[in-house]
Amino acid sequence: MKTIRVLAPAKLNLTLDILGLRPDGYHELDMLMQAVSLCDSIEIAADTGGARALICEDPAGNPLPDIPADERNLAWRAADLFFQKTGIPDSGLSIRIVKRIPAQAGLAGGSADAAAVLRGLNALCGKPLRPKPLSELGADCGSDVPFCIRGGTARVRGRGERVRPVRLDPVQHYVIVKPPFGISTAALYAASDTHVPARRPDTDALLRCLRQGDAENAGAQLCNVFEPLAVQLHPEIGQIKEALLACGACGAQMTGSGSAVFGLFSGPDAAKRACESLKGGENAVFYAHSV
Ligand code: ATP
Repeated sequence: MKTIRVLAPAKLNLTLDILGLRPDGYHELDMLMQAVSLCDSIEIAADTGGARALICEDPAGNPLPDIPADERNLAWRAADLFFQKTGIPDSGLSIRIVKRIPAQAGLAGGSADAAAVLRGLNALCGKPLRPKPLSELGADCGSDVPFCIRGGTARVRGRGERVRPVRLDPVQHYVIVKPPFGISTAALYAASDTHVPARRPDTDALLRCLRQGDAENAGAQLCNVFEPLAVQLHPEIGQIKEALLACGACGAQMTGSGSAVFGLFSGPDAAKRACESLKGGENAVFYAHSV
């Protein structure tokens, strides 16, 4: 039996723009994505000789009944695609996911797990897939998976399949707030088709500020065209932004199609102080830094 332990970092959308609708029905996106230290951890055992087993639990070891532990789980699907693509026989696989990334948050929790399984299996099997085919396999699994395989900071285009790594040395500090409700991604895309955004991201300007370590001006450049649509559906998103700004965030924004909102802080101490003062209500609150 071969085993490996892999981390599955969450992602934040520092920018998200929709450029149009493609002939294949997907939306053409332009995003700046950032992997962060909030992560699931995954233990993979291959060649177990038994039937496929997948366990999803919280860090205290409690099962998570809302997350499917069968072929509907993206980690399971990623493993199937890996064995199909490589032709390596599946001689028994056990996957244990310790989940810290909240689901239905826009933090790519499921995609991060799928990407970690693809990376982990590829490493366990002696790297049969080079980065490009591994990324293409990820795209078959889900739009955010190619970025999650690469991690770090990246400009992501297409429906998520075109990932260009971006060098960003200064570490960024975030507080992530996840309200108890989720937001329908399909509803946001549908609303975006008939809505012209009042403001669109300037990703290059944001990158210039981040590279200079200028969190104050970077905060003003965060932009997600989904956010005004989400605020219309759930005014609580706007209230969480206000709360983060009142706690000293340089900028605050919803990630992806929500419902999590993050604040960008000037340093770890400011972020950790804000994190403590925002905890205690119905929202889940996390400190995270860029990885
Ligand atoms: P994204 O940012 O990619 O839109 P998300 O934060 O909206 O992701 P996920 O955490 O990926 O959402 O979960 C969405 C749904 O996917 C869950 O409600 C769950 O039913 C399903 N799912 C499948 N596999 C997983 C997994 N490994 N972890 C979490 N959810 C999963």
